[in-house]
Amino acid sequence: MQAEMEKERNAYRAHCLVLTFPSQGHINPMLEFSKRLEHKGLKVTLVTTNFISKTIYKEATSIALETISDGYDEGGRAQAESIQAYLERFRRVGSQTLAELLEKLSSSGCPVDCVVYDAFLPWALGVAKKFGLVGATFFTQSCAIGNIYYHVHKGVLKVPLSETEILLPGSPPLEPQDMPSFIYRFGISYPAFFDMVVSQFSNIDHADWILCNTFYELEQEVVDWMTKIWPLRTIGPTIPSMFLDKRLEGDKNYGFSIFKPNTDACMKWLDDQPKGSVVYVSFGSVAALEVEQMEEIAWGLRMSNRCFLWVVRASEEAKLPKNFVEETCEKGLVVRWCPQLEVLAHEAVGCFVTHCGWNSTLEALSLSVPMVAIPQYSDQSTNAKYIMDVWKMGLKAPADEKGLVSREAAEHCIREIMEGERGNEIKKNALKLRKLAKEAVDDGGSSDKNIEEFVAKLVHS
Ligand code: UDP
Repeated sequence: MQAEMEKERNAYRAHCLVLTFPSQGHINPMLEFSKRLEHKGLKVTLVTTNFISKTIYKEATSIALETISDGYDEGGRAQAESIQAYLERFRRVGSQTLAELLEKLSSSGCPVDCVVYDAFLPWALGVAKKFGLVGATFFTQSCAIGNIYYHVHKGVLKVPLSETEILLPGSPPLEPQDMPSFIYRFGISYPAFFDMVVSQFSNIDHADWILCNTFYELEQEVVDWMTKIWPLRTIGPTIPSMFLDKRLEGDKNYGFSIFKPNTDACMKWLDDQPKGSVVYVSFGSVAALEVEQMEEIAWGLRMSNRCFLWVVRASEEAKLPKNFVEETCEKGLVVRWCPQLEVLAHEAVGCFVTHCGWNSTLEALSLSVPMVAIPQYSDQSTNAKYIMDVWKMGLKAPADEKGLVSREAAEHCIREIMEGERGNEIKKNALKLRKLAKEAVDDGGSSDKNIEEFVAKLVHS
């Protein structure tokens, strides 16, 4: 028995447990990072919640999957009475069930050396340390965002905001509306999430590693600044390898999907469209739009006179204007979920109307698709600011004082990108950024070297 356990242990160099926060935008980057670790010789076990594991669509992946309870095994977050209650119970139950999992793996001959945990779950560091393990916090959002929340945590940036211009080290001057919604609309936009994003920094000084899904060349100034205070390493963009460096053979999609993609219909439809002619529209896996906003976007698309592929999740469908799908079926296709990476990589797609979730932003950037930014909440408004003014790879659609983007504004931005001179400039920048993203993850690139260093230290510690 002992000999068998030894053999199993030697089959890999070190074992990382990767604990995800249960949402699409958080699982995708950590799963992709897991694949990179595995590619470099580590054994990786990805951990999700019992509920997510039961409901998710899984593709074959070599990464081992384990589950823990977040205290809501039947309905997940939707079962909790509030976000606050969910996060609190996840912390309590999760600390216990994560410890049980670590014990189980240890007694079955698969002991863990390092816990990589989503920065939204800082309590996991305490569990890792109780077991004497290396603890690595993983930020699934940009460093620019982390920098803002860190300064709030430190009390340097006070909320509610009083300044009209926010100056932080490593960041360009930001206006209040460029800040994450939890700060700009403090107390109104999901207060429980405010506490969560700030508490990402509560125990950060005890973490052995701080891993960020971004790349050095994209966020150089802020990364330089943060690396002075923490063992921070950029490891992204965590896009399936076949869309960038192609070193992980067959890695064409993330592999876990909360919704079932309508792949055939989307790809067949795109195949019939001319190069660069389609407007792809998606607001990600969580955002719920106001009915009025859906209507304005629907009209903006119609008025742009372009073909469009619009992802409207089942829970959002009732908000579409009456008969919209029927009336626009010559020009548009509306689906509940699509294989977004394949869509963005398709030559028919000319622009991406996006909510600017961080994964969507990195995906568009990695596939050089210009963006029309219509941020909804969380970090999206900050991402939109960077997309337009720092990386210059898209336009932020102007919104009124209620945050509503009018049909005219949506139409204008789509036309500017698809037809205007500015669109050409943006496309050129987008191509440059794609090159940088590819180089970062390719052999010897900045992110590749950082992952290499992380692995080497784990193996030799
Ligand atoms: N996505 C997808 N199909 C869709 C819409 C989105 O596969 O129809 C994926 C997208 O590629 C991205 C993730 O869902 O990886 C959404 O993450 P993001 O951070 O952009 O937004 P969130 O859903 O967290 O708001």
